[in-house]
Amino acid sequence: MKRCLILSFGIFAVSVFALSFLGAYQADTGPLNLLIISMDTVRLEDLDLADTPAIDKFKKISTVYSNCIAPAPLTLPSNCSLLTGQYPATHGVRANGTYELSPSATTLAEILKQKGYSTAAVVSGFPLDHIFGMDQGFDEYNDVFEVGGSLKCKNYKGHEVESFERLATETTRVAVDWLRLHRGERYFLFVHYYDPHAPYEPPEEWRADGDFKEYWGEIAFVDDQLKNLLEEIDMNNTIIVLVADHGESFGEHGLGTNRQGHHGTQLFDEALRVPLLVYSPGAAPATNDQLVSLVDIVPSVLETLGCTVPATLDGEGLDIGHPFVLSETLHRFPHQYGLRTKEWKLILSISGEGATEAFLYNLEDDPEERDNVAADHPAIVKTFLGKIETYLGVEKKEEKALIDKRSRAKLRALGYL
Ligand SMILES: [Zn+2]
Repeated sequence: MKRCLILSFGIFAVSVFALSFLGAYQADTGPLNLLIISMDTVRLEDLDLADTPAIDKFKKISTVYSNCIAPAPLTLPSNCSLLTGQYPATHGVRANGTYELSPSATTLAEILKQKGYSTAAVVSGFPLDHIFGMDQGFDEYNDVFEVGGSLKCKNYKGHEVESFERLATETTRVAVDWLRLHRGERYFLFVHYYDPHAPYEPPEEWRADGDFKEYWGEIAFVDDQLKNLLEEIDMNNTIIVLVADHGESFGEHGLGTNRQGHHGTQLFDEALRVPLLVYSPGAAPATNDQLVSLVDIVPSVLETLGCTVPATLDGEGLDIGHPFVLSETLHRFPHQYGLRTKEWKLILSISGEGATEAFLYNLEDDPEERDNVAADHPAIVKTFLGKIETYLGVEKKEEKALIDKRSRAKLRALGYL
């Protein structure tokens, strides 16, 4: 549906996956496994600021994407886009905790399971609990959060709460156990690390005092565990995707501080621009600065694995890129919808009363998104608003999650409700 919609813009003259992002894949390498690692809350630029030797090493053998934009600054909608290849308006999950992925959605895990893959997910934060529907297609969906990861901490409102997350050490242990148990099988493993999400309380070894140090410590802690996870992987027959679900704001636009970040309510680049690294056996390392979205990962992976790409995806593939990508947040009012090209970003803000306001930023002249120049470029605003309107036109009937009292209390503690 959305593919037809995009084509109607006349933007994608060719809607084929003629080139795989893993173009050097050789048929004689045999069936490929797939490992997707989703790091929570990792800003693109902070990978260079934190101590990440394992990721640095991984970069040297991967395609490094420098313009990957998350479809939402929220964990559940963004990870659903990662695993469905669809924008939130299409898959219907618009926020954490109050939506569930519809059983009618088709996930990457479901497609690969049908192809005979063993499928498993190890997730580490309550927003990805199985009750929200992301377990579809996984033989095993491990979402035990409290083991080794229950901490007393302060949420972003300053309230002391219990943090429902699993530490990277435990996440890795579970993932490695699964890998060893299923060695020799063709598999798809999805691993989600939650540690860089606030609060920033890495294990002692990774702590340091100072602005941003605890956040970087969380990233370094995940990096250390990535090293252990990657040691278990046969690099000759496994595709590996390393990505983050969204970034983090540290006061750039009035939310968060350099000690306590924030995300979920703004569509500025610090919350949306994320690292994306893709490794494939036989593919030469490369850099790619095309504008891509998390929705492009599913079609590229399926293409490379020789699977049919469903026509219902919004993603076009990582080698193709987009003239524009979309993002949204419906976490709180005002709801916001963003359209980003390499040069421009438009944000449409809609208040609870329905009042609208448009913000336009020239990302080349104003990369920090400080000066709203909407009044100077009415034609661009009109064109972009038309595309957002079309995007909103694909909204399907959303399914609210049925949340029990305990789940609601957890989400409130985390600041999501
Ligand atoms: Zn997240």
